[in-house]
Amino acid sequence: MFKAFLIKYAEIGIKGKNRFLFEDALVDRIRHALKKVEGEFKVYKTQGRIYADALSPFDFDETVDALKKVFGISGICPVVYVEDEGFEQLGKDVTAFVDSVYPDKNKTFKVNARRARKNYPLTSMELNCELGGVLLDAFPELSVDVHQPDFELHVEIREKICIYSEIIPGPGGMPVGTNGKAMLLLSGGIDSPVAGYMISKRGVKIDAVYFHAPPYTSERAKQKVVDLAKYVSAYSGPMNLHVINFTDIQLYIYDKCPHDELTIIMRRWMMRIAEKIAKDTDCLGLITGESIGQVASQTMQSLAATNEVCSLPVYRPLIGFDKQEIVEIAEKIDTYETSIQPYEDCCTIFVAKHPVTKPNINIIKAHEQNLEEKIEELVQTALETKEVIAIS
Ligand code: ATP
Ligand code: MG
Repeated sequence: MFKAFLIKYAEIGIKGKNRFLFEDALVDRIRHALKKVEGEFKVYKTQGRIYADALSPFDFDETVDALKKVFGISGICPVVYVEDEGFEQLGKDVTAFVDSVYPDKNKTFKVNARRARKNYPLTSMELNCELGGVLLDAFPELSVDVHQPDFELHVEIREKICIYSEIIPGPGGMPVGTNGKAMLLLSGGIDSPVAGYMISKRGVKIDAVYFHAPPYTSERAKQKVVDLAKYVSAYSGPMNLHVINFTDIQLYIYDKCPHDELTIIMRRWMMRIAEKIAKDTDCLGLITGESIGQVASQTMQSLAATNEVCSLPVYRPLIGFDKQEIVEIAEKIDTYETSIQPYEDCCTIFVAKHPVTKPNINIIKAHEQNLEEKIEELVQTALETKEVIAIS
């Protein structure tokens, strides 16, 4: 019975003069998301509302699922439009709506009418009372509860009249593209896809970089990262995944530096390389999946050592999260099952038995001087041979 959706948005409503930019971006993101759904839709904004009208038969569940991935949407309301043919007809339409949406009438309700067109003969208050009365007459099992009703029947009087009662929660956040771009360091783990999702949720477009180390890491490990990038891009939109061959750099570090500092020094080179790519691709920051204390390379001292090599801001949205909290989000965004597949990522190959947990930046820097001879050349080669995979 539903052939249209009213799209609710929260935060973007408060952006003052920039409001229309956010609304236009949201309309654009919705159009993009619905392109992947079977059916044709008209997406438009009018009078501070965004609608998606189906112009052809469509799959309801698939459409709702697609809309649930569009940042900026706070609620998805399946609506029925009816023509304004007088109050009596409206009463019939509302009765028919309730009858088909709620087969079980043993419920409490309230009517929430809104007269957006002031030439309608009844005020909003009058509509609430009158329509409530019509429904009570039609279905004696119903009763009114204005505080905590089982359903709230919304009736919006505009050019057409729009009836809805269900508000399916959207993902919240802001439309992607309204807040610049950042580079996600994406590994095959649980955390970094979640970190990318969270920053993207704030309207940031993302690209990603993955460091792999063939033959120490397999093609399967790389494929896993590509798969994760696809799951994230279902929310964040199309992205470029930059794949850097890190093997020679890793072996060189292994050869020249103390093994208990390997992870930290490797992470510093990852950050440096990621930042180079970020700056070349108009990114305004880096994103990692780090969380304080989760592993040796994420103690406060280690984070300071990793951070020290970057001039761009490093966004770490999971910094205060426990693993379980991160897992819950990973499950919600469908990345968890892929993340736990057991393919080595390039950090796990060269992990020391007893990595330093409190690295001293000056000592790390001194040991990095052992790399002076060849590291610039290796980084250059890694950048020149990087593979870019378009994820959409
Ligand atoms: P994750 O679950 O995201 O892999 P982790 O708990 O395994 O995190 P680390 O391996 O210490 O933690 O990595 C910390 C962060 O560094 C990751 O969240 C990711 O942003 C980045 N990172 C680590 N390894 C790689 C890699 N091979 N390619 C790209 N980024 C990486
Ligand atoms: Mg990891």
